[in-house]
Amino acid sequence: MVDLKGQYEKIKQEIDTGIQEVINTTAFINGPAVKEFQADMERYLNVKHVIPCANGTDALQIAMMALDLKPGDEVITASFTYVATAEVIGLLGLTPVLVDVYPDTFDIDVEAIERAITPKTKAIVPVHLFGQCADMERIMKLADKHKLYVIEDVAQAIGAEYTFSDGSKAKAGTIGTIGCTSFFPSKNLGCYGDGGAIYTNSDDLAKKLRMIAHHGQSVQYVHDVLGVNSRLDTIQAVVLKAKLKHLDKYAAARNSAADYYDKAFANHPGLKTPVRVKNSTHVFHQYTLQLNGIDRAKLREQLAEKGIPAMIYYPIPLHEQKAYKSDRYKTGDFPVTEKLCACVLSLPMHTELDEDSLQYITSTLLDLIKA
Ligand SMILES: *Cc1c(COP(=O)(O)O)cnc(C)c1O
Repeated sequence: MVDLKGQYEKIKQEIDTGIQEVINTTAFINGPAVKEFQADMERYLNVKHVIPCANGTDALQIAMMALDLKPGDEVITASFTYVATAEVIGLLGLTPVLVDVYPDTFDIDVEAIERAITPKTKAIVPVHLFGQCADMERIMKLADKHKLYVIEDVAQAIGAEYTFSDGSKAKAGTIGTIGCTSFFPSKNLGCYGDGGAIYTNSDDLAKKLRMIAHHGQSVQYVHDVLGVNSRLDTIQAVVLKAKLKHLDKYAAARNSAADYYDKAFANHPGLKTPVRVKNSTHVFHQYTLQLNGIDRAKLREQLAEKGIPAMIYYPIPLHEQKAYKSDRYKTGDFPVTEKLCACVLSLPMHTELDEDSLQYITSTLLDLIKA
């Protein structure tokens, strides 16, 4: 699905030197690269504060801790997402309130958010799924009207840019109260292990987020609030700093691959290609087809036999997962999510897909569904 080795070969020199330097200086924790990467990210995103942390799930948890959400508070998020989003809501004793998504964009349904708001609602967590921004202008309007926090889950959309109706632009994750991202190796900006970051434009929140990520500590050995231990390793910061310089180029390579797929699959009645919206760029974390009248399991197996991986993100809706079962929901409540879980198929998508591989993938797939 990804080719991290090929990508590494092209930046090997810088990465190897940087990692060796960390080892030579033994600055494994909070070494200079962490601060440097943080500053580079702040500049790239045009956001006041980036707080690096250990992974994307921690980023979401720390964000919710910093907003002083209390057990019983309701947090609205999408039923069609990676589990981490809902997991931290539950972990903090908050109530995850799931809503359906739009069939074309896979992103959270804004009318459904509005219907789900109650006096207990405190926050909305839009997920910019697969690399394209959710409808942030309408989500922010709704949040303002009901005085709700917005925590953007940017794990799959780092670098995507949103355009408001007045023409102003902002990077995904810098629009809501807080943005949370992941540097898991296969993400668009991935390190060589685990990593994550939290973004905010609020000085007060930044201070609190930083404190929570460091054991609730304001000054060493002085603990003002309950915190966690969540740091980005220096070695990972070295990798991220080197890769951040190429991020826009990486997004362009992903877009070229997506264009190739789009063209090859256009007008095939059995394949619906991803819909691109006008108000967001797409960074194609995933290229996800919707199959119509095609046996997905069989196709996956046949593709695998030809050496082509294809994945199902995500096979089971959150409301049908044992851990998230609730009296609030029953099967049939989120028809779009349920339909998507049954028909989506993601193809290989990364920065190293050349014309030969794309040609092989598309022609093989088209042959298989013709048969
Ligand atoms: C990857 C991912 C996360 C979690 O990130 P980790 O770094 O693996 O903890 C959260 N939300 C979404 C949508 C993701 O894709």
